[in-house]
Amino acid sequence: MSGYTITETYQQVSATARRYGRCPECGARVTRSRTITNTINPMNRRPDGQVKDYSEVRADVQAKADRWQPTGHDLLHEACAVALSPEDYESYREPL
Ligand SMILES: [Zn+2]
Repeated sequence: MSGYTITETYQQVSATARRYGRCPECGARVTRSRTITNTINPMNRRPDGQVKDYSEVRADVQAKADRWQPTGHDLLHEACAVALSPEDYESYREPL
């Protein structure tokens, strides 16, 4: 035991995607968001082996956020999600 701990913290980069949709069951408006996070760290490298800098990591998380789409499942609003039978709930699992 060394008696101390070295904690390395890496700069976090995140982008939040927000999508508006309608509950496929009742048509209620729903908003869904997801935050994509990555860090600038020595393992996060470009194909040529160079460590990605802030703008590159930022572009990666933004691209991921831009591509994200909630599935039908995600858009079910809470009251409908609990009211549905397990089979009906599963039927909304497909992406819209
Ligand atoms: Zn609903």
